[in-house]
Amino acid sequence: MGALTRSEGPLSAYTILDRLRDNGFRAPLQVYRALDKLVEFGLVHRLESLNAFVACSHPGCDGDETIAFMICENCGQVNEISDDPLAKRLKQLAGEASFALKKTTIELRGICKACHPA
Ligand SMILES: [Zn+2]
Ligand SMILES: [Zn+2]
Repeated sequence: MGALTRSEGPLSAYTILDRLRDNGFRAPLQVYRALDKLVEFGLVHRLESLNAFVACSHPGCDGDETIAFMICENCGQVNEISDDPLAKRLKQLAGEASFALKKTTIELRGICKACHPA
């Protein structure tokens, strides 16, 4: 799945499909299945609000833990952040509500440092 890791920002499934067409992946279903596996293993994360996929940028991410992304609305750059206290707090809140938490994805929208007016 080099198409995703080599890319800078998030990619839609359609774009990935397009890039993989030359590498033997022809059927869309094949690509979706491969993406599902990568998401399951935590190698790739799904950005719900963008309906796009991004390669995981921190090792040891198993896909189950709390993951947060800072998404720049100007350049589309996505930064993955992980914060233990935040993850623990959210798990605690879910626990208090007897909510069976499966996974947490936090998406922060805004303008990245590079796009800020100085
Ligand atoms: Zn990750
Ligand atoms: Zn930006």
